[in-house]
Amino acid sequence: MRIWDCHCHVRGDETGDEVLRHMDAAGVERITLFSQFPPVWAYPRDWKDALGLDPVDFTGRPACKGGDHVPFRREDVRTSIEHIAKVQAADPSRIYGMLWAEPRAPGIVEEIEYAIVDQGLRGVKMIPDHWSPGDELLMPIYEKMEELGKPIMFHSGILYGFGDSSQYCRPVLFETLLHFPKLRFSLAHISWPWVDECIATFGRMRAAGGYGQRTPQMWIDTCRGTPDAWREEALRKAIPFCGIEYLMFGVDGVPETLPKNAPVHARKDLDILRNVIGLPQEQIETFFWGAAERFFGE
Ligand SMILES: [Zn+2]
Repeated sequence: MRIWDCHCHVRGDETGDEVLRHMDAAGVERITLFSQFPPVWAYPRDWKDALGLDPVDFTGRPACKGGDHVPFRREDVRTSIEHIAKVQAADPSRIYGMLWAEPRAPGIVEEIEYAIVDQGLRGVKMIPDHWSPGDELLMPIYEKMEELGKPIMFHSGILYGFGDSSQYCRPVLFETLLHFPKLRFSLAHISWPWVDECIATFGRMRAAGGYGQRTPQMWIDTCRGTPDAWREEALRKAIPFCGIEYLMFGVDGVPETLPKNAPVHARKDLDILRNVIGLPQEQIETFFWGAAERFFGE
C-alpha cells in the first residue's frame, strides 16, 4: 500500500538523499516536508529550552520570553526556502517541500512567491503564534496563495510550544477562509482536543461550497495529536461526516525518526480503519494516499 506522510518537519541540516533514505526505511513513498521555521533564535524560550539551546545568548540578540519574538529576518526565511528546495530537488516526485511561513517576517508575501514560483515548493505551512487566522496581517498571504493555487497547511489544536498560543489555533477561527473560496487548506491533528469543532468547521466549509456544487476547500491532516484513547473516536466521527477523501494520513516527525515512527502510526491507523471501522481497502488507500493527492491537486 502506498503511504504519503502529509506532515513532516526538517531540522534544517538534512540532505535530500538522507531524507529519501529515511523514507525508504520507513516505507513512506511520498512526504510533505515543512521547511525549518525561521531561525531558532526567534522561538519563544520554551522551544529553545526544548531544543537544548542557550535561551539567553544563542545569537547575541535579546532573549525571548514566552510568546515574544525578536524581529524575524528576511534572510533567514530565504535560507530556509533554499534548504527545503534543495532537499526537494533530490526527488520532487517523492518530496513535497513546503515553506513554513511566519506572517510577521518582512517580505513574507514575496518570499512565498519566490518559494513557490522560483523554487517550485508545493505550498505553505503555518502555525498561528500570537496571531489569529482572521487577522489583517494574514489577508495578503491568503490572496497570494489563492492566486498561486497552492494550499496552506495549518496547525490546529492544542499547541505544545510557542508560549500561550493554543487559543489562536481553535478550528472555528479558520472559518475566516470562507472569504478565500479558492484557497485549499488543511487543519492538522484533527485539531485535538477540539475534534468536534474541527469536524463542524469542515461542515461549514462544505456548506459554503453548496454540498458538492464545489469541492470543499478544507481537508483534515490527521497526524497525531490525538492520543490513542481519543483516536478511534476521532476517526469514527470524522470519516462518515467528512468523507475519507478529505482525511490525510500524517506522522508529524522529522525524517530521521520516520523509520521508527511511521510504521507504528500507519499500523495503528490501519487497524482502526480496517478492523474497527471496517472500511473497504479502496477507502483505506484513499486515506494513506489519495486524499493528499486531491489536496495537492494532483
Ligand atoms: Zn508538526
